[in-house]
Amino acid sequence: MNNDNRILMMKRYITLFVILAILFSITGCTDGHTHKWKEANYQSPSICEECGATRGLPLTADFERYGINAEMKPETDYTLTTLCAEENVETTATVRISSVSSFGNDDTHEARNGYQWVVVKMTINAGDSNSNAYGFTYNYLTADYYDTKKFETSYQYSDKKNNVFTVNYNGIDYTDCICSVQAVSGEWILDHTDDIYHKTITITWNLLIPVGYDGIVIGVHSSAVNSDGKLFKDYYRPEGFLLFRVEA
Ligand SMILES: [Zn+2]
Repeated sequence: MNNDNRILMMKRYITLFVILAILFSITGCTDGHTHKWKEANYQSPSICEECGATRGLPLTADFERYGINAEMKPETDYTLTTLCAEENVETTATVRISSVSSFGNDDTHEARNGYQWVVVKMTINAGDSNSNAYGFTYNYLTADYYDTKKFETSYQYSDKKNNVFTVNYNGIDYTDCICSVQAVSGEWILDHTDDIYHKTITITWNLLIPVGYDGIVIGVHSSAVNSDGKLFKDYYRPEGFLLFRVEA
């Protein structure tokens, strides 16, 4: 066989292959059924309920879409720049995720089928000449990595501190999620080595979320950020936020 013939044969094979590829893509599966496509969700692409074939990609998480950075890692120090209570001056504090624990239930956390508790503790160490003179303020927040709006619009404040919200996981709405946050502020204590008063604020998030869910984000932001009446994606900005994504 000379080279020209080989190329011709090759071209025929390629043509045959392309035709077969087109036929397969029209019928989808070899058994000839019509795909029954289930909608894509944040965890998986659109999937055929008959044969498990997939098409496309999972939905894009809001944090990726809007470029929101949940950079915090546990037991690592970060610096928050925020505002004093009086005067419009800045002050800084050291923020740290001090512990993360997850469990089904304990004495104070009731079990719920399909859900697990995650308790996250954050410490804020404040204390510089500005906060010593004018005080220290900050804001904490809770958000959802995948669907920030569903989280916010479903969030219901409760007198009993167990605020209820909804997240979607694997295409299912979990409507019984709970968020309960306690912030405890210590006293200002004089540190004789630098003659500056320091105080520690401890914030504890008690979260009831679907087993395996990795979309809850907790954090703090500068009190210079005005969040009044705005959705998270609209008041978020790259500076002045420290966010931690809770990987269950
Ligand atoms: Zn199918």
